[in-house]
Amino acid sequence: MKQVQLKAGRGASIERRHPWIFSRALLPTKGLEMGDLVEVLDSEGHFCGRGYYEGGTIAVRMLTFQEGELVDASLWQRRFEEALEMRRALGLLASPREGFRLVYGEGDGLPGLIVDLYGGVAVMQAHTLSMHLRRRELAEALVFVLEGRIVAVYYKSSDSLPMVEGVVDELLYGSIEEVEQVVAEEQGICFSPDILRGQKTGFFLDQRQSRARVGALARGRKVLNMFCYTGGFSLYALRGGAERVVSLDSSPRAMDLLESNLKLNFGTLPDCHESVVGDAFKYLYDMEEGTFDMIVLDPPAFAKRREVLRNGLQGYRKLNSVALRKIAKGGLLFTFSCSQVVGVEEFRQALFTAALHAGREVRVLEQFGQFADHPVSIYHPEGSYLKGFLLYVS
Ligand code: SAH
Repeated sequence: MKQVQLKAGRGASIERRHPWIFSRALLPTKGLEMGDLVEVLDSEGHFCGRGYYEGGTIAVRMLTFQEGELVDASLWQRRFEEALEMRRALGLLASPREGFRLVYGEGDGLPGLIVDLYGGVAVMQAHTLSMHLRRRELAEALVFVLEGRIVAVYYKSSDSLPMVEGVVDELLYGSIEEVEQVVAEEQGICFSPDILRGQKTGFFLDQRQSRARVGALARGRKVLNMFCYTGGFSLYALRGGAERVVSLDSSPRAMDLLESNLKLNFGTLPDCHESVVGDAFKYLYDMEEGTFDMIVLDPPAFAKRREVLRNGLQGYRKLNSVALRKIAKGGLLFTFSCSQVVGVEEFRQALFTAALHAGREVRVLEQFGQFADHPVSIYHPEGSYLKGFLLYVS
């Protein structure tokens, strides 16, 4: 196996089992190609672990720190088995139709790889070229581990690897009909993920915990679900007995998906539900005060990179400030940020400023994160990205 060596004084990160090795920590490398498996040595030549070489700023992503553990098909299988065991512990395997994330990159010891399961359909997504190159052996290991549970593996990376030429989405196992027609469940709510054309892998599975809270608190409330996409929060609010639900997204396609999910769950489009295609900011500015007493704000990441953090925070302040100003007295605001570069304290600070601007009495009732099927390795805090607060506004 090829080798890379750390510069003197650069061993602290790997000693703390952080799975990324930055290029500046490495001695000049020769003869390496992107995607190569490498053994990582410390500056004195001792074994530190094995990973794959990607070039770029994060030059190596670690797959193992154990000298006895080889990187071959059995490693993929072991990682998938461990991932499955953890989801079993969370009770996610009880129903064969359940939708959940089976593999969350570094959190499951497989940097650069995402696998979402929608009932029997697995959607695999690579975020690194190295995982892309190994997609077929990964799919094979996945099918082996999920034997009896899985009917198709769809590979969807054309969006997640925009910098790599020639990446196409493709079926790696089973039939495309299974992928197109799958109906999955989340805590008894049915949904059809838009695997082929939708955002990410077709559905946002990270909001499971907060959706349940929306459902539990929605009875008798007038609910506004902003940035609704496939309508996850709206479905829970309706099941929870909301008096009225308005779902808004700027994408007409999202509305089609939401409405087909409404029919799946309620047989028809409920009279108390209204779909709106529009801009969230404009809708909130134009809206009469007190129209809604539950508002969900789950926008796309306003700051995708650290360089745009300031603008992103400004976006969160503006959005939350108008929602806090308009929500009815006694209202519940569920507000989220999925920007990885926005820390939880920064988001709380943005909400504090928004509350001050809105001039409302605001209490923090609950705090949320990504659901546990998106686990964060204790050695890789960067894996945490979703933050949410439930605010009570009087
Ligand atoms: N809350 C959703 C996920 C939201 S993803 C869920 O539970 O599944 C973000 C969504 O915001 C996308 O569907 C995108 O179309 C929509 N969006 C982006 N900018 C918007 C804007 N300015 N106004 C309304 N919707 C917007």
